[in-house]
Amino acid sequence: PEVITVGDLANRMAERGADVIKTLMRMGVMATITQTIDADTAELVVQELGHRPIRVSEADVEIGVGGGQDRAEDMVPRAPVVTVMGHVDHGKTSLLDALRKTDVASREAGGITQHIGAYQVQLESGSRITFIDTPGHAAFTEMRARGANVTDVVILVVAADDGVMPQTAEAIKHAKAAKVPIIVAINKCDLPAAKPDRVRNELLQHDLVVEALGGDVLDVEVSAKTGLNLDRLEESIILQAEILELKANPGRTAEGVVVEAKLDKGRGPVATVLVKRGTLKVGDIVVAGSEWGRVRALVNDRGATVPQAEPATPVEVLGLNGVPLAGEDMVVVETEAKAREVTEYRQRKKREAEAAKQGRGSLEQMFKQI
Ligand code: GDP
Ligand code: MG
Repeated sequence: PEVITVGDLANRMAERGADVIKTLMRMGVMATITQTIDADTAELVVQELGHRPIRVSEADVEIGVGGGQDRAEDMVPRAPVVTVMGHVDHGKTSLLDALRKTDVASREAGGITQHIGAYQVQLESGSRITFIDTPGHAAFTEMRARGANVTDVVILVVAADDGVMPQTAEAIKHAKAAKVPIIVAINKCDLPAAKPDRVRNELLQHDLVVEALGGDVLDVEVSAKTGLNLDRLEESIILQAEILELKANPGRTAEGVVVEAKLDKGRGPVATVLVKRGTLKVGDIVVAGSEWGRVRALVNDRGATVPQAEPATPVEVLGLNGVPLAGEDMVVVETEAKAREVTEYRQRKKREAEAAKQGRGSLEQMFKQI
């Protein structure tokens, strides 16, 4: 169905009609400003022009609130988001636990910590680092598969007594594919059998050249067990973050990514969200994947209720009507009606995809029987 005029679409995106027409031409579609195009084409144009399309119905496309560009003067530095990867038993979990204990803020507050899928540490210097608390490349690739690129820096954990192993190589591959810079944490350096130089040489074979060997990859010899050089590892992350010039606009409507979600017996659906831009507030109407709700409460990584969450801050969101999937995006919308429209559309799409998959399955079944 031909539903939206080129002019109307341009208006919704706050783009010039001529630019929309040009984009259409590049896609092989000839249209004037008053002509109508179908929703599928509109969706492509919206993406081409750098906005985020939201399908509100089969026949209509809305522009996501995340569409607009931020002005340079509204951008402020934000904490880097770090994912820890590496071979099994090389110390990912131990390192995440040890890093968490370096948080000066929670030390002051008594050190009660909650596992919510991500946490933030504050360094003596005042800088902050956000760690995704689900180590391993399974979580990383699952999120990426849903289009969520939340990670700014990958910490590659390599045990100094074991060296580069298959999952180390896998992790390097994933980080490189995602174009995320790697910092190498050579772990278990407390052990007499530790051979950090061997690790550096083995990394060469995977095109990961550390500074000592003439490359630009930062590496730190650490021990999750004794706490050796954890401060240096954190300094390296901050250094890498400065190179990346990580910034976000806290003053806009919020957008984030679901890191983890579950159905809690007492609290209902709970999603841990990493705010990417804007500031998420209690009372906001949010759409997360194909679920929506009004934010009833926000709980931080120390179990404290907070009124709002700034960019790169992990926070538990209460008040959703259902459980979204890890890697799905969360956006704030203006009205409940809009939230309902978007999620109803997405749920229907999900059901259709599911039905199609089952259809294929039974078809394959049929062929097998023949
Ligand atoms: P993961 O599979 O990568 O999450 O590894 P874990 O954190 O579960 O650690 C695997 C094993 O290595 C555990 O027995 C840890 O106690 C041990 N381990 C982790 N880090 C260190 C370290 O820095 N030094 C020593 N000696 N042992 C460590
Ligand atoms: Mg582990």
